[in-house]
Amino acid sequence: MSFGTIRRVVMAALILPSVVMAFEATFLLRLYYAEYRKLEIGKHHAYLVFAAAKIASQTMPAEARATILYLEDPSPPNRQALQQARTALDEEIRAFPKLTTDYLADHPANVPDLGRMQTAIDAMLRQRRAVDTSRLSAANIDGVFKSASQAYLHIVNDVRSDIDDISLLEDLHLLMSLLDINEAGLELAFYGALLFAGESLTTEQTTALERASVMHKAGPAQLLRSIDNPRVRALIEFDRSSEGRWLDDAITSINRSAASPATTSVQTWDSIQDARTELWQQTISGLIADIRQHGDELADRARRQLMVLSGIVATLTILTTAIILLAMKGMMLIGQIRRERESMILELRDAAQTDLLTGLYNRRGFQSAASALLHQASANHDWVSAVLFDLDHFKQVNDTYGHDAGDVVLRAVATIARTNFRPFDLLVRHGGEEFLALLPGSSTEEAVTVAEKVRQAIESAEMKLPDGTTLRVTSSFGCAGMSAPAHQDLLTELLKRADLALYAAKSSGRNCVVVDAETASNTESPDIKTA
Ligand code: GH3
Ligand code: MG
Ligand code: MG
Repeated sequence: MSFGTIRRVVMAALILPSVVMAFEATFLLRLYYAEYRKLEIGKHHAYLVFAAAKIASQTMPAEARATILYLEDPSPPNRQALQQARTALDEEIRAFPKLTTDYLADHPANVPDLGRMQTAIDAMLRQRRAVDTSRLSAANIDGVFKSASQAYLHIVNDVRSDIDDISLLEDLHLLMSLLDINEAGLELAFYGALLFAGESLTTEQTTALERASVMHKAGPAQLLRSIDNPRVRALIEFDRSSEGRWLDDAITSINRSAASPATTSVQTWDSIQDARTELWQQTISGLIADIRQHGDELADRARRQLMVLSGIVATLTILTTAIILLAMKGMMLIGQIRRERESMILELRDAAQTDLLTGLYNRRGFQSAASALLHQASANHDWVSAVLFDLDHFKQVNDTYGHDAGDVVLRAVATIARTNFRPFDLLVRHGGEEFLALLPGSSTEEAVTVAEKVRQAIESAEMKLPDGTTLRVTSSFGCAGMSAPAHQDLLTELLKRADLALYAAKSSGRNCVVVDAETASNTESPDIKTA
């Protein structure tokens, strides 16, 4: 298998699962993110509704009550109570826009009626200034607070349609019903007290009383729908108690215009109505607190969801990094194996082409190196010379000093050859104790000169054996030359001629250089002969 294929297989093994993982991860992330967004939106709903309902049904009426008390009796404690009520309301009004911003970020299309709210707040602030300058009587102030409350309830109504959370929606429906019924109850309590006190009502008041009475009648049926809610059960139980039944009878008599003024009736009416109002206020507060708690729970779940999301993202980041690192490591390993293999091949090729004892080319190495050399020489029309040399009576060296001593001599001769021939000459251990040098761009004459130099160097070298003894050897040389031997046959011919010259050198007494007759030139050296 090629390294390219291995690389592709490794990449595929890493990338394909990564792609599948990425799809799964995207799916998972979208799922968790959608759930997280749902919880966040639910939280924003719950907080907005809680704040609006609280302002409308508690904080605003609280300031209204404190204002009435203050106008009736502007004593310092009442002034202080009024100030506290105003501060509480101001804080809630100030915090409200942040909640509407959060809501609008989720529902840019459904803009609640914030204009109406702002107008109502402005009217309330103007009324506050009038109260402070005592330009108002207690009887006149309720309308402004009521319409401000209504503006906040209107916002609750506006956002109601967007709420998906069932239990929040149930709480909200119940709260709106309770607020309506409570409003009717308060009106009934007020006008009923007037009737029982023997006062006659204006036409407007009578209409209001009738409307409140209708609302009141419808109340129990609405409450029964939420009987599972323990807070509602308390209200129903009150209606079914003896006091509740007394109130019911009294209201029936009012409806029949049969309510007769009586002191006991006024007192009973007032005390039962107070108890009822108290219970309803508590229930409404409790329900609003439930909504707030619901928001807190959603916020908690959203936080946990966010943590899970962060965990998934962190895990994915770690996994992706690990995969990238693994892929990089894999690619590096493949690169390393590839380099090692290449260098091993080179080493093996080198080993196959090199003679182990001398480090010179062996015959096989010579074949491939020579073809490159000849190719170059023929391209340049160069003269190529061959110098073939063989140690004289080498067998005797082995016989006398041993085979290891013979090896020492062979290595020493190779070193001498390496020193005296040029770096780009091709040096070959051609046979046992026979060497060949191929000299590109050298004339036969030049080859003969180098051969003579080598011959003398061998002759004069003192070869040191491992046991300390020294010995000297001589060698015989055959030289031949040829112009640009373009192919293998010509090389074979060149070597053959050099061999013949070597043979002649051996025949003529050894330790001399003989040049092939065909390429011979005159030389003055006594050791250089012609075959
Ligand atoms: P001549 O002068 O005619 O060349 O005589 P010679 O003894 O050198 O030639 P011959 O062919 O009779 O003997 C060559 C010897 O070289 C025989 C062989 O044992 C020895 N020889 C060949 N290769 C090696 C080698 O790698 N190491 C050693 N120590 N000896 C070798
Ligand atoms: Mg020999
Ligand atoms: Mg030989």
